[in-house]
Amino acid sequence: MALLETRNLTKTFGGLRALDDVTISVDQGELVSLIGPNGAGKSTLINTITGMLEPTSGDVTYAGTDLVGLDPFEIAHLGVGRSFQTASIFPELTVRENVQVAAFATEHGSFSVNFFKRRDGYDDVRERTERILETIELKDDAAETAKSLPYGDKRRLEVAIGLATDPDLMFMDEPTAGMSPGETEMTVSLIRELLQDWDMTIFLVEHDMDVIFDVSDRIFTLNEGAIIARGTPDEIRNDPAVREAYLGG
Ligand code: ADP
Ligand code: MG
Repeated sequence: MALLETRNLTKTFGGLRALDDVTISVDQGELVSLIGPNGAGKSTLINTITGMLEPTSGDVTYAGTDLVGLDPFEIAHLGVGRSFQTASIFPELTVRENVQVAAFATEHGSFSVNFFKRRDGYDDVRERTERILETIELKDDAAETAKSLPYGDKRRLEVAIGLATDPDLMFMDEPTAGMSPGETEMTVSLIRELLQDWDMTIFLVEHDMDVIFDVSDRIFTLNEGAIIARGTPDEIRNDPAVREAYLGG
């Protein structure tokens, strides 16, 4: 059984079909990527699966549970996470505190300032935070305020906050956007570590085709809301419809 499945998922905004009958599945432990030109509907697909948007029609199931109609918090609790947008970082808190807040809220339902007043206790939250900071390579900057981080580190903090919610399946929407080659390389090795050492299943939206062809087990290609091709990196690289719509002939 697939871990995640969408069936005929459709989302319209007024007259626009942002998603048009999207049927895909993701297996446990896979890294699948979603590619497609700007405006193809990639973010809309993620937002519809994770409960930020309600589908117009169609089904989404995760580990056999119907996700349609659940709110983002309920979906996160089932184990579906996402790398959070910069907007969800608390700029005045330290890197460590940002991760602790997310880890604490996930474990206890909401955040309590008691956590910061006490310097001990809640060992599970503290240990989980340190493990995440190590994986994301933010340990040396853990005491810095989030706002002081360079761009690439801020983007990785978003991933750290996503990890703190303890997902089995993680959506990452353009995690290397705006990164330098060095930062991109660091993010790619982080993605590999999440697959190998954290047993994560990853759903990646990414523009950098080198990254896509390098890390993906399978690739879905979206164009004007519809899946036009699916397959292994080799199959996608050589697909005429993909070349036409996306790779420039
Ligand atoms: P991508 O992530 O592939 O660049 P999006 O999913 O962001 O594409 O957008 C797909 C289409 O849906 C675009 O035409 C976009 O303008 C439109 N769209 C996305 N979100 C909304 C919204 N909340 N309201 C109206 N139109 C939207
Ligand atoms: Mg997008």
